[in-house]
Amino acid sequence: MQIKDVETSNTGLDVDNVTKIYETQKGNILALDNISLHVKPNEFLALLGTSGCGKSTLLRIICGLEKTTEGKIINQGKTITGPGADRGMVFQAYNLFPWMTISENIQFGLKQKKASGRQVREIAEHYADLVGLKGFENQYPNSLSGGMRQRVAIARALANDPSVLLLDEPFGALDMQTRGVMQELLLDIWQKSPKTIIMVTHDIDEAIFLADRVAIMSARPGKIKEILDVKDGIPRPRNYHVKTSQSFIEYKERATDIIREESMKLLKLS
Ligand code: ADP
Ligand code: MG
Repeated sequence: MQIKDVETSNTGLDVDNVTKIYETQKGNILALDNISLHVKPNEFLALLGTSGCGKSTLLRIICGLEKTTEGKIINQGKTITGPGADRGMVFQAYNLFPWMTISENIQFGLKQKKASGRQVREIAEHYADLVGLKGFENQYPNSLSGGMRQRVAIARALANDPSVLLLDEPFGALDMQTRGVMQELLLDIWQKSPKTIIMVTHDIDEAIFLADRVAIMSARPGKIKEILDVKDGIPRPRNYHVKTSQSFIEYKERATDIIREESMKLLKLS
């Protein structure tokens, strides 16, 4: 009997034999090569890989912003055909509306859903509070720091109550200290408001610190090379101290070896 590598279920999210070819004037680019992955409900999965390996492509496909060439994405039993309120996305660039207040930015998706004015304000207040921005609701994005803006972007994505939160290098533009604080804040939010998270990063420490599983991609064309099950080795709740624990270092060694091997391939040094 052949064992299927994708367990298609009506809970969680399935990436089912996804291939993506970009057709460009210079020829075809095979960005993703037959990727299959099952993400469990409320699981935190990190997608780790070298630059250009197809991480953003895979996330945009899951979000519905990009079509597959072959294969499909199934969220909670439904095949995805485009963007939907079941999936919220946060990009590296803050993507806030500068002419709207923090509260209006958080309310944006909710207004499109046609919830009542009072409901919308209450939900926006709740999520502003959750990301630690209580009291800043009436300010405009340009008066906030990078870390605060990204918290608004996370609150806006969460306000729609998606089952899946998609994060594409959300802390990539932040300095090291702010980044560390944001990672802890994200874990805190996830604990208070559990949902499936798929987070793209090229930062090995960030992936191991945050995730239940770390899916490491090969250099282009992107495939899943190995999945590190870090959940058992690094118990929760986690704080920054776990980054110096023995098991963290062992996962980091393994991830570094794979990423190095893939980077060498990319540079044609191996
Ligand atoms: P990552 O996020 O891992 O850095 P991307 O998903 O952005 O990688 O890109 C994967 C590959 O696909 C790269 O070679 C990139 O140049 C190519 N690519 C991405 N987007 C497009 C596009 N819209 N058109 C053509 N090629 C693209
Ligand atoms: Mg990218």
